[in-house]
Amino acid sequence: MYENFDAIVIGCGFSGATAARCLAEKGKKVLILEKRDHIAGNMYDFIDENGILTHKYGPHIFHTNNKTVFEFLKRFTDFMPYEHRVIGRIDGQYVPIPFNFESADRLFGKEKSAKIKEALKKEYGDREKVTVNELLEGQGEIRKIGEFVFEKVFLHYTAKQWGMPPEKVDKSVLSRVPVVLGYDDRYFQDTYQYMPKDGYTKLFENMLRHENITVKTNVDALSLIHADAQSGKVTIGDEVYEKPIIWTAPADELFGCVFGRLPYRSLYLKIEHINKTWFQPAAVVNYPNEEDFTRITEFKYLTGQRIEGKTTIMKEYPMQYDPNAEKGNIPYYPIVGQENQALYDKYAELAGKIGNLYLCGRLAQYRYFNMDAAVAAALKLAERIS
Ligand code: UDP
Repeated sequence: MYENFDAIVIGCGFSGATAARCLAEKGKKVLILEKRDHIAGNMYDFIDENGILTHKYGPHIFHTNNKTVFEFLKRFTDFMPYEHRVIGRIDGQYVPIPFNFESADRLFGKEKSAKIKEALKKEYGDREKVTVNELLEGQGEIRKIGEFVFEKVFLHYTAKQWGMPPEKVDKSVLSRVPVVLGYDDRYFQDTYQYMPKDGYTKLFENMLRHENITVKTNVDALSLIHADAQSGKVTIGDEVYEKPIIWTAPADELFGCVFGRLPYRSLYLKIEHINKTWFQPAAVVNYPNEEDFTRITEFKYLTGQRIEGKTTIMKEYPMQYDPNAEKGNIPYYPIVGQENQALYDKYAELAGKIGNLYLCGRLAQYRYFNMDAAVAAALKLAERIS
């Protein structure tokens, strides 16, 4: 049966679904094999008992500067404008995250804050944002500001999130959240900031509705697929499969983890239903310091739903990834850094020996992709293959 398909895609998140759709539109018959009992990967959302659209695998907020990606996705959903705002609970106060001039005003008071803003303007001129590491590398007042922001916003959050001291966390990770040199209190500064009006699952349903796409859920590809770097061949069932195979699951698993497991970071996500119209003052409140969770998301802010007297929240408890554990068995984040990259490269090298095998996506490429970057990479791959 597999030879009837022109391509096989493993995994039905943004990478797999995007690649499948593009290939399908080029006339290729595509089979998607998905291990879970649903499509949409970690973007999967559902209506909960409060009638609230809830993101099962944690909050996913769409933002991009990539017009091609935005135009592509727009074909499968109506988007509603949504600018994400995050507040941090710091020293008993709610302050904007990324740390901005308003955060300084609230934490330092008028006079001291004025001096801080002046020092930042003098150092960085018209720049809109800097990284906390840049501040830490600065001198005098700048360095002091850096130390304060690092201590209050990044240090403990990062230790919780990654389970290691922040100095061991790759600098690119902290750079995702800047220090804003002004009063812009949006979490992202991208050109396109929208949420799919009817949710991600619906977006995926529309993307996958194509005569050339077949999706099979509840299929663990690892029990079917055998990749052999020595012969350069992939077998599915008993057949050698010579047409493109796009693998979006962790790369190590495809090769029996022969060099050891690639580490990922996982989360335990605790959903709570609350009999109040609103729980907190913003879509996400970060708890960098005191709590053992990192953040709380209140979904109604993301979906724009108006539901009285009820709300749904999610707390995120970071955990070690262990595929066999009861909690923490989902690989959410690759842990970027030289050592893990070197391990990943060994798997990528094996994959490279199989001419028709393509690794694609956050898990398979071991890259801390945002959703738009995953879509962009899959679009490119599909072009290249066809
Ligand atoms: N971070 C932090 N404090 C915050 C927000 C973020 O220390 O209040 C750091 C932390 O290391 C985190 C990284 O910045 O893992 C990236 O944050 P982002 O919000 O992009 O993480 P994601 O939404 O991908 O989990």
